[in-house]
Amino acid sequence: MSDSLTTAMPIAGHFDPVPVPRAITPRQDGKLDLMGLSTVQIRALFEEAGLDVKAAKLRAKQVFHWIYHRGASEFEAMTDIAKTMRPWLAERFVIARPNVVEAQVSEDGTRKWLLRSDDGQDYEMVFIPDADRGTLCVSSQVGCTLNCRFCHTGTMRLVRNLTPGEIVGQVMLARDSLGEWPKGNMDVGDGTDDADEDAATYTADGRMLTNIVMMGMGEPLYNFDHVRDALKIVMDSAGLALSRRRITLSTSGVVPMMGRCSDEIGVNLAVSLHAVSKEVRDEIVPINKKYGIEELLQACADYGGASNSRRITFEYVMLKDKNDSDADARELVRLLKAYRLPAKVNLIPFNPWDGAPYECSDPDRIRKFSNIIFEAGISAPIRTPRGRDIDAACGQLKTAAVKKSRAELDREAEAAEA
Ligand code: SAH
Ligand code: SF4
Repeated sequence: MSDSLTTAMPIAGHFDPVPVPRAITPRQDGKLDLMGLSTVQIRALFEEAGLDVKAAKLRAKQVFHWIYHRGASEFEAMTDIAKTMRPWLAERFVIARPNVVEAQVSEDGTRKWLLRSDDGQDYEMVFIPDADRGTLCVSSQVGCTLNCRFCHTGTMRLVRNLTPGEIVGQVMLARDSLGEWPKGNMDVGDGTDDADEDAATYTADGRMLTNIVMMGMGEPLYNFDHVRDALKIVMDSAGLALSRRRITLSTSGVVPMMGRCSDEIGVNLAVSLHAVSKEVRDEIVPINKKYGIEELLQACADYGGASNSRRITFEYVMLKDKNDSDADARELVRLLKAYRLPAKVNLIPFNPWDGAPYECSDPDRIRKFSNIIFEAGISAPIRTPRGRDIDAACGQLKTAAVKKSRAELDREAEAAEA
């Protein structure tokens, strides 16, 4: 199994080196987890386990379909695979889901799951139901190295990148929980077994999960290879078959990876801009010291031949007396126009957490800020906070299991010096 991680690129901010870069988290029972693997990877594992080339190819195609299109987690359920073959597979492989430590539901219907990997790392995912859509907010890392000052996740010590299996696993688990797998029989069929016995019962119901945002814990472009491989499976028409237009990747501005994100993933882009001057952005989004606002906006202008149909979303957290003045709004408009960006601005009221060094701007201030941008012809909706009561809103994700981190200790030390 190849394991090309992006650890070769310099990572800004306080960080702990990822201890064991890997594509599959080893299991105690020694079986291999197929979750997050492509057809080609599954085929290679089947060949290694002794199937001939032709059989491995057919079985990989069938298994891939059952895993991602049907949501099967047992080989026994794969009715178009020969009965004798199913136990052979089950002895060697599993189709796992992330372990659920806790599932919470907010009074507004938002759900949050605390998940645990096989090596004991905790991460979170959030599902946000709306009238016309359901959005799953997926994590890409355990913690985050970037220490944006308004973000709770940024106070966690980075433990490690999530594997493709752990990333796709979040989508699979959400589908399980929402009861969204097609019912009935729709086997690929190899003509040798009991396929098609009740083909008429197939119905693709549900589809409450319509959108995915890579906006959970972590900076997705610092775990580029795994995020790409996971999203390829999510978009694969033989897999989860979600359109790339329904997927949004949010980055704090990892400029050197944005071109590859466009070329190799091609999903919608959201950029956490949050400030319009070097001074303020350096303070609240420290990666700005490495890749400045101009460089970032140029990378946005170059993204996927950005056109009006593929607008880039600029996220802007509203922090009282920090980045929320009329002059800031006007400068934001000027910048977006200067780079001719097909843009939409998402104004995010700051979600508080214990010990956060900022406050949310007043509602009137946010409306005024939004109006200035709207009047310049750029859409600037104010995002309604969701799931605040269960700490599921933007920037509130942080697993309780994590003890005081180095980032927090650094901040405390800085505060003590001041
Ligand atoms: N790491 C990526 C994606 C995850 S964060 C990124 O930073 O873009 C998703 C969004 O929530 C980002 O725009 C982030 O800046 C914002 N956010 C973080 N903390 C927040 C908070 N306390 N209140 C509101 N938004 C916050
Ligand atoms: Fe990391 Fe995004 Fe939070 Fe910044 S806002 S610390 S990049 S998760």
